[in-house]
Amino acid sequence: MTPGGGEAGGSPDGGPVPVEQHLADCLGLLRPLPPVELAVTDVLDRVLAEDVVAPAPLPGDDNSGMDGYAVRCADVAGASADAPVVLPVAGDVAAGGGAPAPLAAGTTVRIMTGGLLPPGADGVVPVEDTDGGTGRVQVRAPAEPGRFVRRAGDDVAAGETVLRAGTRLSPRTMSLLVAVGRERVLVRAVPRVVVMSTGDEVVQPGTPLRPGQVYDSNGVGLAAYAAELGCETTRVPAVGDDPAGLRAAVEAAVAPADVLVTSGGVSMGAFDVVKQLLRETGTVRFRKVAMQPGGPQGFGLLDGGRVPVLCLPGNPVSSMVSFEVFVRPVLRTLLGEAEVQRPRVRATVREGWRSPAGKRQYARVVLDRDGDGFGCTPVGGQGSHLVADLAAADALAEVPEATTGVTAGTVLDCLVLGRGRV
Ligand code: AMP
Ligand code: MG
Repeated sequence: MTPGGGEAGGSPDGGPVPVEQHLADCLGLLRPLPPVELAVTDVLDRVLAEDVVAPAPLPGDDNSGMDGYAVRCADVAGASADAPVVLPVAGDVAAGGGAPAPLAAGTTVRIMTGGLLPPGADGVVPVEDTDGGTGRVQVRAPAEPGRFVRRAGDDVAAGETVLRAGTRLSPRTMSLLVAVGRERVLVRAVPRVVVMSTGDEVVQPGTPLRPGQVYDSNGVGLAAYAAELGCETTRVPAVGDDPAGLRAAVEAAVAPADVLVTSGGVSMGAFDVVKQLLRETGTVRFRKVAMQPGGPQGFGLLDGGRVPVLCLPGNPVSSMVSFEVFVRPVLRTLLGEAEVQRPRVRATVREGWRSPAGKRQYARVVLDRDGDGFGCTPVGGQGSHLVADLAAADALAEVPEATTGVTAGTVLDCLVLGRGRV
């Protein structure tokens, strides 16, 4: 859907639009940011922008998995502690020592872990099963063909795709990149996110509150969420409810942004200037989404179509839930991740609560473990101003639109509000 016009609605009858439609419309605003090529040492937590194919097998050659002696297994078939087999030691093979000469029958070479197996050898006797000799060695146990031999390609085959675009790189996957020979790799650009709060009553932490004022809890929380996802995040201290000031602030905010997220000023109040001002651009729409909390939402493009903007309602719980449902998938899509949703669990409701008809409710709950599964209990209150209850919750239970009363024993899908880049 192309945003445009000043329509408040979104569905043909002007009623609220389903959550999925609003999410799809928000995602539809996005254009991928161009990838960047970085040294493989500098990509921790970055998202791969290419499939990585191993050009050669890993390991590259058959090599020893132990410090010991490379043998032809038939030569030591009957060896035991009581009847050791004595073999002349033709030389040493160290890791990194290059390609060894073929192993003559009835001889052995001392071999270190990672040393290349000489042609003709088909097994390794660990040093612990010998007397450790250098000129001659007593072998006190038989060797099994292939045992303690690391075969070329048994880790990764040549041509195998080892990592897919969309993978967030970890220390383990960085090691894999290096092991398959990469020195540079294409990763997704880090989106620059600007978070802007609005409201005459919103003041910054550290300022004494006058009656009717509130601290900018949304700005700090939303910016921290974006930063936690790995976005380059800037927070604009709250902008007042005057159109000229807001216009100037939005213009300044979009210039260095890839995404703008605002909170406040999008509902039906007389001073909801975000809605009034951005509607006039003709490229930002406002509508009601069939959800609770978080009904009023704005979305569109600014700066000549370059910068997606998502306008969230100001109530603290509404803005945080809107982040979970819309902004998180938008940012994770821009980051290039394959999975853009929070992890979900199914949880059995411990005590029931009410839910509005015709709206998807995101209820704040605390999860508990229940054998192999989960249970969920609602936090104290579900009002959209209750920041303390939101902070106490560790999941959002999704209550279907048609449900008006959630009863104990029902099983609900819950978005898990874990820490980290998910
Ligand atoms: P609004 O959406 O602007 O009508 O705001 C709805 C409610 O959320 C009001 O009670 C505001 O004071 C409150 N609110 C708006 N912005 C913030 C913010 N940045 N931090 C905390 N509360 C806010
Ligand atoms: Mg406001």
